[in-house]
Amino acid sequence: METRIVVYPVLTIVVPCYNEEEVLPETVFQLTTMLQTLISDKLIATTSTVLFVDDGSKDATWTLIESFHDSSPLITGLKLARNAGHQSALLAGLMKAKTYSDCVVSIDADLQDDTSVIREFIVKFHEGYDIVYGIRQDRSTDTFFKRVTAQGFYRLMNSLGVKIHYNHADFRLMSKRTLENLEKFQEVNLFLRGMVPLLGFPSTQVYYDRKERFAGESKYPLRKMLAFAFDGITSFSVTPIRFVTIMGFLLFALSVVAGLYAIVGKILGANVTGWTSLVLSVWFIGGVQLLALGLIGEYIGKIYKEVKHRPLFVIEKDLTATGRDHELVHTPSNQVSSSR
Ligand code: UDP
Ligand code: MG
Repeated sequence: METRIVVYPVLTIVVPCYNEEEVLPETVFQLTTMLQTLISDKLIATTSTVLFVDDGSKDATWTLIESFHDSSPLITGLKLARNAGHQSALLAGLMKAKTYSDCVVSIDADLQDDTSVIREFIVKFHEGYDIVYGIRQDRSTDTFFKRVTAQGFYRLMNSLGVKIHYNHADFRLMSKRTLENLEKFQEVNLFLRGMVPLLGFPSTQVYYDRKERFAGESKYPLRKMLAFAFDGITSFSVTPIRFVTIMGFLLFALSVVAGLYAIVGKILGANVTGWTSLVLSVWFIGGVQLLALGLIGEYIGKIYKEVKHRPLFVIEKDLTATGRDHELVHTPSNQVSSSR
């Protein structure tokens, strides 16, 4: 009988925290309990950890992270020099974790997302999925206002051609190779939930009920939410610019009609002197200006897409010698076959 070396995947749970001293002890408790069960159930490696990213908190968040780190080998931390915002803090954690993990789960500190779902994420990872999206089943715990604005946002994004998963925030699992490819997206306007689906790779979804915040209040006031939504739209779509061009076209067409009307009026002698030329120029110049503006916008849109330096393709499988080594180390299904 052949003997196999069993390799369990190293999991890192990345948690961005901004002024979360009120929830942190409970979050630490729940996530470490979770990790311990997963380790003893032989689903993940014993070196799996939780990585708290302190996003420049003004309260005792970092001191807490340090003391939890001192008392438990399962807790690690990363401190950002200043408040970089949720998306940047999350990316910092993901990029750090990717260097030593086989898979990474991202979750908010406030325990709104069901931590028990992480187990399902890992099971899916063992089945061979690279990305597992946590999808909120219902939003009944959100305020009416938040629910309506969020739904409107998803609709708008989709109508603008941005592919995002309905009711998915940033609670997801990503494998090492997807994170390595995410790193190639060198963009400043981060909108991770729009970027991750662009990667491709075998993906699946897990549904859960979103709870209320365990403690403390939302760090996402309406102002930040609107800025985030606007960022999401403008980072993924040039439709607003195209809108200007279309308007210009319509006005231009209208100016031709208005011109004909004015000229006919002039011939029939119904117009006041000077009116024809005035109306003609107003419509014509207005239309031409908007058209020109839209045209310039089109070019700016192109430049904007260029400067993003987005990778044009993502390699999922590679049969060359170096690629094959890579496959053997990181393919989730490969790890499963040896652990069963
Ligand atoms: N957060 C962060 N930096 C910020 C704002 C928020 O790291 O500038 C973290 C916060 O600690 C939490 C997560 O992002 O873990 C989501 O924030 P929150 O729960 O306040 O947002 P909501 O669920 O209300 O949209
Ligand atoms: Mg929250």
